[in-house]
Amino acid sequence: MGTERKKILEGVRRVIVKIGSGVLTGTEGLDRDIIQQLVDEMAELIRRGYHIVIVTSGAIASGKHRMGISGKLKSMPEKQACAAIGQSRVMRVYSNAFGRHDLYVAQILLTMDDLTDRKRFINVKNTLSTLMEWNVIPIINENDTVAVDEIKFGDNDHLAAMVANISEADLVISMTNTEGLYDRNPKAPGARKARLIGLVREITDEIETMATAETDPTGMGGMRSKILAARKVTACGIPYIIARGKKKGILGEILFGKDVGTLFIPMAECLSSREYWIAFTLRSRGKLFIDDGARKAILENGKSLLPSGIERVEGEFAVGDPVLVIGSDGKAVAKGLVNYNAQELHKIQGLKSSKIEQVLGYKHYDEAIHRDNMAVQKAQKARG
Ligand code: GLU
Repeated sequence: MGTERKKILEGVRRVIVKIGSGVLTGTEGLDRDIIQQLVDEMAELIRRGYHIVIVTSGAIASGKHRMGISGKLKSMPEKQACAAIGQSRVMRVYSNAFGRHDLYVAQILLTMDDLTDRKRFINVKNTLSTLMEWNVIPIINENDTVAVDEIKFGDNDHLAAMVANISEADLVISMTNTEGLYDRNPKAPGARKARLIGLVREITDEIETMATAETDPTGMGGMRSKILAARKVTACGIPYIIARGKKKGILGEILFGKDVGTLFIPMAECLSSREYWIAFTLRSRGKLFIDDGARKAILENGKSLLPSGIERVEGEFAVGDPVLVIGSDGKAVAKGLVNYNAQELHKIQGLKSSKIEQVLGYKHYDEAIHRDNMAVQKAQKARG
């Protein structure tokens, strides 16, 4: 048994268990036996003092089954109608399964909008912590019925990564229908057998290409979106594990440090909750291309971005909007909330802050983006 794993997992108390449609549903719709099996394991962990937050899929798949629809759904309203039918069924199954252990569940349905708005973000955070204090299990899904493209998380892997930040989780477990991440597609024909990667210290380009973009027919994300989620989760110092959800006793095995699934080790230098919110929850509205001096000041000296370091402004954005800050090598240096809108920055780019008032007729701030409103790209170094 890996001592490194044990070390990473000791002290874990708050666990996000993300369960994909491929685990929850079979040919007969929701697989109650699997759900009961997982719930029994979670109930045992709760008895031992763990706090569990579930991010579940299964609404659309269950609704489809209820309506006798096989094959792909044609339109967004059809998906949304199926989600509306399936969601209450999903909750009923969880509620009955936890009921056997005298545990209560609570439903939380979220859209991206709920988390990009800082006030709503805080409300969700407070609700979650109250539920956990009461030992009630929050069961979270995307609010598919209202979510349209621009307010969609897209898949529950991303949603689980956002929830990890809101609930200040110690671990995220992604329950899927493979053992973990393989070094090549295990289903692809070829002489060499695919090898399961037990430990990932750094999410390199090579790791990203190992994950095929191919999605599971029942779920949304596939392995690639799990890797993207792992990147976000480990960036805020939280370990991330991909494992086979249907394997009996899987949750206990993971938490006791057994070598199962793929463990992504958290980053040593991690983002604060606010930095994480800026970096991953908010969608950027534009780009600021900066010179090498400004890049160095941000990355090495912990400074804000001044208009003088900006060489080019791209996009239409308002004051307070999130924008990407790009270095001369084309790589993102940071993401931050701007103090001036796009037109204003066009006018003051490259100028000393003492000139702002002369050009704009006013000066609200010296900085284009203040350091407190900036999430800076951290070095990808795993916690040792
Ligand atoms: N929210 C969707 C559902 O419950 C699933 C999304 C996903 O599997 O990533 O059906």
